Amino acid sequence: MTQKRVYTFGNGQAEGNAQMREQLGGKGANLAEMNLIGVPVPPGFTITTDTCNEYYEVGQEKIVELLNDDVTKAVKHIEALMNSRFGDAANPLLVSVRSGARASMPGMMDTILNLGLNDEVAEGMVKKTNNPHFVYDSYRRFVQMYGDVVLGMKPVSKEDKDPFEVIIETVKKEQGNENMLDKDLSVESLKKLVVLFKKAIKEQTGSDFPENPIEQLWGAICAVFRSWMNERAILYRKMEGIPDEWGTAVSVMAMVFGNMGDTSATGVCFSRDAGNGENLFNGEYLVNAQGEDVVAGIRTPQQITKVGSQRWAQRAGISEDERAAKYPSMEEAMPDIYNELNTLQDKLEHHYHDMQDMEFTVQEGKLWFLQTRNGKRTGTAMVKIAMDLVKEGLIDEKTAILRCEPQKLDELLHPVFDKDALKNAKAITQGLPASPGAACGQIVFHADDAQVWHQKGHKVVMVRIETSPEDLAGMSAAEGILTARGGMTSHAAVVARGMGKCCVSGAGAINVDYKTKTVEIGGVVYKEGDYISLNGTTGQVYAGEVKTIDPELSGDFKALMDLCDKYTKMEVRTNADTPADALKARQFGAKGIGLTRTEHMFFEGEKIKAMREMILAETVEDREKALAKLLPYQKADFYGILKAMDGLQVNIRLLDPPLNEFVPNKENPTGQKEMAEQMGVDLEVIQKRAASLDEANPMLGHRGCRLGITYPEITAMQTRAILSAACDLKKEGYDPHPEIMVPLVGILYELRQQKEIIKKTAAEVFAEYGFEIKFEIGTMIEIPRACLTADRIATEAEYFSFGTNDLTQMTFGYSRDDVAKFVPEYLEKKILKADPFAVLDQKGVGQLIKMACEKGNAVRPGIRTGICGEHGGEPSSVKFCAKLGMKYASCSPFRVPIARLAAAQAAVEE
Ligand code: PEP
Ligand code: MG
Repeated sequence: MTQKRVYTFGNGQAEGNAQMREQLGGKGANLAEMNLIGVPVPPGFTITTDTCNEYYEVGQEKIVELLNDDVTKAVKHIEALMNSRFGDAANPLLVSVRSGARASMPGMMDTILNLGLNDEVAEGMVKKTNNPHFVYDSYRRFVQMYGDVVLGMKPVSKEDKDPFEVIIETVKKEQGNENMLDKDLSVESLKKLVVLFKKAIKEQTGSDFPENPIEQLWGAICAVFRSWMNERAILYRKMEGIPDEWGTAVSVMAMVFGNMGDTSATGVCFSRDAGNGENLFNGEYLVNAQGEDVVAGIRTPQQITKVGSQRWAQRAGISEDERAAKYPSMEEAMPDIYNELNTLQDKLEHHYHDMQDMEFTVQEGKLWFLQTRNGKRTGTAMVKIAMDLVKEGLIDEKTAILRCEPQKLDELLHPVFDKDALKNAKAITQGLPASPGAACGQIVFHADDAQVWHQKGHKVVMVRIETSPEDLAGMSAAEGILTARGGMTSHAAVVARGMGKCCVSGAGAINVDYKTKTVEIGGVVYKEGDYISLNGTTGQVYAGEVKTIDPELSGDFKALMDLCDKYTKMEVRTNADTPADALKARQFGAKGIGLTRTEHMFFEGEKIKAMREMILAETVEDREKALAKLLPYQKADFYGILKAMDGLQVNIRLLDPPLNEFVPNKENPTGQKEMAEQMGVDLEVIQKRAASLDEANPMLGHRGCRLGITYPEITAMQTRAILSAACDLKKEGYDPHPEIMVPLVGILYELRQQKEIIKKTAAEVFAEYGFEIKFEIGTMIEIPRACLTADRIATEAEYFSFGTNDLTQMTFGYSRDDVAKFVPEYLEKKILKADPFAVLDQKGVGQLIKMACEKGNAVRPGIRTGICGEHGGEPSSVKFCAKLGMKYASCSPFRVPIARLAAAQAAVEE
């Protein structure tokens, strides 16, 4: 069977429909559908997205040959319905050629209007319409668009102006006023523009402007195919995760004209407010204009509804009298058309059960729709619209859950840049969007400076080559963090997400000089104290101060979360190391803690001193002495967290990181000197100990349970701190539920030994208190061997918590700390589809997880499984875990709502 490449539509009939967006693109599918439901659409046809892929395989000549018969037939179909002919001077048909991919990519690809014009056709149209201004305005627009899009007539260098605009300026000058509007160009000037445009095209590109309409059509169709691979389309797809293989469809439609005089108009409208979700029809239009005039900002578009117009005038400081006279709404200026438009927008919204974004044209008093699609919207609007549609009975609850994009909830949780302020901001570099939100402040380079400046009331952004746990206090004091190195699971990224703090990491193009306290970005040197702004959601960095605004958690947001709870099968816990984080996460709906990283508690004030004494200790006795100093601190920390999570489970992990993270290394001689003074020992002692702790790859070294095996005293101290804190709380009438988790287990006996220590210590603590507390002992599953032997490990572990950061590191053999060096290139070269530290690799790492769940369940039926790696807050990873039947996902507080929504979606999709 030959492949069908062309689908026609028009006059209430169509070969395609809304379900065919994969083949016809969103635009093509909806043009077909609008025909089927009685919305007026100019007749036309759509060439499939597969044909676009074919174009890239076989090239222009061959594709024209393959399409020739079908396109010729389809053009005849339009001619018949429009009662005009392509290229016929007496009764010409003009068409538009538009792109349209499966997912909407607004403005990324090319469109050509008024195609079919040449000198002869233009004269014929003048005779027919008696409107030479309209004809020559359309003609010059067409030559301009065609020259740009098809023939590649662009500015020669970045500094140059658009060559067509230069010509327009000259002609306006000749006509006597360089500042006149395009629409005021005389017919003579417009005619002249056509001639000059063609001449310039020939001179610059060497190509003649094609006079033959069929030749024009093929040129335009192939140019739209080519625009699939233009730079901005590629970039947009990358940002939105749209695969290159999808291709774009091409829709060719009879032209209708909004520039035929004062009974003609063109506009864009939305069935609801895309910014805040308000159920208010809104949009903009221009009388006597063509599509691009509305978006190009040359003329001030007017509002469609009277309410919208009045609101607009108020914002712009325009009086009601002036508004009504100069900028009337369509509702006032064209009431009949407005009523029809209003009825049809409502019909479309009801048909698609979603907010619509529509384009229309009015030609001499007749309304035509050129496009409809589900409108893009902000996170706030997304939630409000979904919940309103449920209330209005247009969608059911499950659909509302599926309608909301988990990742977009982020916008509702963090401070965001003021949209107007962002328009004037200058982006200076780009890093990884490590932790979302917006931040702006004065640059500082060191954690202690961040604290000092913060205490003095300054807002600061900490700029570092990389961060270590020592920078924690500084990070906490800063509005945001910018680092030159580190990936999505680098320390800075993990910690920042935990704090809900904006962070851009791995911005490789910045050069930080700690000595001079400067950072060089794109040739400009920024000093300590200079303002800088970060967008942790996009990774963009801006010079200067960009205004931010606080988010509001509206009632709709809560209502959506309640819906999620109704359908979800998987709970969401949080990764939290402080009572404040725990409380924040609880507000966001966390049902417990899935991971407390105890090491994060060791850095403040006196704690680091005791920790360092422990590390310097050469005998068990000395170590125990130091640990005894740490005990009360740890106990107080656990007390706070267990209290904040009263009644809920709290999974506390024993010490995990390599000890060298607590001792300044040789690159930090000042730190070493300070430590020597603090500890009252010779500098040499510190240097020696630092050297002995140094490891080639500490992430695979002496860490996790390996520490607890070599220093069992640490495990004992931490167990005592956890359980005595819980006992204290119990005595005070609280309901603590601690879980003690052993990290980095790969061998059953590691867990068994640690468990013995935990149990022995527990017995001692309970004997001292005279009562017992129920608690569980589990393990992290984060080493491939642990997955392979999960049936053995489950004999000792009461629960499994998947540490997918380490599991990813070890499954791929990528060091977590160094991925930023090559992963971006892997992504660029399509060796990897996504950063595996951000998005769980379901094919590889996922298989290990699945195997471990099955093996665990076989030995300990119903064993509680959860995920606590960074993937626990990433929607596709959360869904994967939910579908495996995991009991919970755990993530940083600010990702809790995202995970709740993703988990509910997994349940609804099943
Ligand atoms: C993990 O490895 O996934 C994990 C949660 O632990 P950490 O990131 O602290 O190593
Ligand atoms: Mg780990």
